[in-house]
Amino acid sequence: MTTTVHADVLILGGGVAGLWTLARLKRDGFACLLVEPDALGAGQTVASQGIIHGGLKYALDGQVGSAASAIAAMPEAWRACLRGDAGAPADLRGVPVLSEHYVYWTSPGVMSRIAGAGASRVMRTAVERLTGDDRPALLRDAPAGLHGVDVYRVGEIVLDARALVARLAEIGRGCVVHGALAPPVGAWREGAPLRLRCRDGRDAEVRPSAVVLAAGAGNEELMTRFGFDAGGSPVRAQRRPLHMVMLRGAPGAFFGHCVGTSSSPRLTITSGATADTGERVWYIGGRIAESGVDRAPAEQIAAAGRELAECMAWLRLPEGARWATLRIDRAEGVPASSGLLPGLRPDAPVVARVGRAVAAWPTKLAFAPLLADEVARELGAAGVSPRADGALNPALPAPPVAPHPWDAEGVRWT
Ligand SMILES: Cc1cc2nc3c(=O)[nH]c(=O)nc-3n(C[C@H](O)[C@H](O)[C@H](O)COP(=O)(O)OP(=O)(O)OC[C@H]3O[C@@H](n4cnc5c(N)ncnc54)[C@H](O)[C@@H]3O)c2cc1C
Repeated sequence: MTTTVHADVLILGGGVAGLWTLARLKRDGFACLLVEPDALGAGQTVASQGIIHGGLKYALDGQVGSAASAIAAMPEAWRACLRGDAGAPADLRGVPVLSEHYVYWTSPGVMSRIAGAGASRVMRTAVERLTGDDRPALLRDAPAGLHGVDVYRVGEIVLDARALVARLAEIGRGCVVHGALAPPVGAWREGAPLRLRCRDGRDAEVRPSAVVLAAGAGNEELMTRFGFDAGGSPVRAQRRPLHMVMLRGAPGAFFGHCVGTSSSPRLTITSGATADTGERVWYIGGRIAESGVDRAPAEQIAAAGRELAECMAWLRLPEGARWATLRIDRAEGVPASSGLLPGLRPDAPVVARVGRAVAAWPTKLAFAPLLADEVARELGAAGVSPRADGALNPALPAPPVAPHPWDAEGVRWT
C-alpha cells in the first residue's frame, strides 16, 4: 500500500543542513518531510569535530578575511539556541557543550597577531592568554618562555555533534522518514509526485511544492535530477578529502589547535568517549588530516604520532592507547559566480535555486542557522508558502542517529 504524504517541502538528507532547515521551516508553519536513507548525521555531521568557530582559525594568517567575518556571529547564535532563548531558531537546551572554550597553543610570537585579530570588532571573539595553573592540565607541563609555548583560550564552544543531531531529530519528530527516493530517476517538475521507498518496505508518495537538496555528498547525484544541469547550473559540488586520526585511551579531555606558521592548525584535537567502555578518545584533524589523504592508515597513524610528539613534546601517552583513522570527504557547494578554484573552501554557506529546487551546503556545521535562513529566503523568493494547517504525521519509520566515528562498526584499532 502507498501512503500519500501532503508536504509543502521535501528535504533530502538528515545531516545538520537538512535537520536545521526542517526545524526552521516547521517553526514558520511549513509542512515538511525529511528523507534520510542511512542514519541521521551519517555523512559529515556526526563525524565533525563539533567546533562552533568564531572565525579565529581563519585569521591565522593575521588577516580578518570574509570567511572569518561571515562566521563571527555564529557562536552567539548557537549560544542563544543552547540557552533556549525566545526567538532563537532552535531550542537546543540539553545538547551537551563539551567545552566552553577552545585552546590555541603555539610558539611564542605566533599568536600575537591572531589575538589582535580576535580583538577586532569584526571577529568579536574573546581571546585570553593563559599562564601557569590557568593553562589546561595537559599544557601545564609545556615549557614557557622564549623557546616554549604560548597558550590562549578562545571563546569558541565545542558541541557533541551526535547529541545535536539527536536533539534536532526530536524537534523534527513526525516529519523524518527512513527511506530514499525510489527510481525511476527522471527530471522533477513542481507538483509532480515523488515516490519514496521506506526502509520497512512501505512505499509513500509525496507531491511537494518545493524540494531542498541537503544531502551533502549525495547532492552530486541529486542535482541533475532536480534541474541543476552541468552547463547552466548556478552551483557546482566539490569534495575535499580528509584522513582523520582517532586515539583511544587518550590522556584526558582536551580541545585545542596547535598553531604553526601556516594558515591552518597543525593539529585540531577534540575529545569524546567510547559508548561501550567510556574510554577517552581524541579525534584529531587539522593539517595532518588534509596532508594525510594519500597515506595508508598505518602511515597516517605514524605521521600523527610524530606530529603529536612535536606539538606536545612533554606528553606521555598512556600504556594501551590505540589508534585508528577515518577517511571522510567534506562536501561543499561552489557558486558558479564565485570563481573559486576547485579544492578551495567557500567562505560561507552555499544555497542555490533552480525553479523550486534548492540545493544547500552549510560549508561548516557552525553555519547551519545561517544556511536555514537562506533556504527559507529562497523558498519565499520562489513563492512557496506554508499550507494553512502545517500539520504532518505520516507515521512512517524514523531513522536512527549515526554513532560517533569511534563507535562505528569496522573501526580497526591498532
Ligand atoms: C571530519 C570533519 C570535521 C568537521 N569539523 C567541523 C567543525 O568542527 N566545525 C564545523 O563548523 N564544521 C565542521 N565540519 C564541517 C561540517 O561537518 C559540515 O559542513 C556539515 O556537517 C555538513 O552537513 P550536511 O547536512 O550538509 O551534510 P552531511 O552531514 O554529510 O549530511 C548529508 C546527509 O544526506 C544523506 N544523503 C545522502 N544521499 C542522499 C539522498 N540521495 N537522499 C537523501 N539523503 C541523502 C546522508 O546519508 C547524510 O545523512 C567538519 C567536517 C568533517 C568531514
